[in-house]
Amino acid sequence: MAIKITDECINCGACEPECPNNAIYEASEEWRFSDGTELLGNVMLPNGKKVDADEQYEPKDDEVYFIIADKCTECKGFHDEPQCAAVCPVDCCVPDDENIETEEQLLAKKVFFHKE
Ligand code: SF4
Ligand code: SF4
Repeated sequence: MAIKITDECINCGACEPECPNNAIYEASEEWRFSDGTELLGNVMLPNGKKVDADEQYEPKDDEVYFIIADKCTECKGFHDEPQCAAVCPVDCCVPDDENIETEEQLLAKKVFFHKE
């Protein structure tokens, strides 16, 4: 499943550069599927959702860092464990029960994002 950031976040910024998919954004930051991925233009995500990879979407949170679940692969294919959770000093990167995916689905997402 994807990882999410809780309200306990102290906005230290340690997690953001660790994410291999650029799925983590600072509070109030607009985000794109093309940030940190090979995606361009209109694409269909492995879950069937159609998106414009270049479109800038509204921030998910105005107070603390946030994770875009559709971009999170739990670091599968890159690392043995979620890197955001590994570096977070207050342990506020936790499993997102509302976005549960199998290891196979997460690896397919990783290949889809990075074309490898
Ligand atoms: Fe990024 Fe990995 Fe954290 Fe997901 S688990 S947000 S891919 S660092
Ligand atoms: Fe927030 Fe943890 Fe990321 Fe720091 S490492 S910005 S406390 S989620």
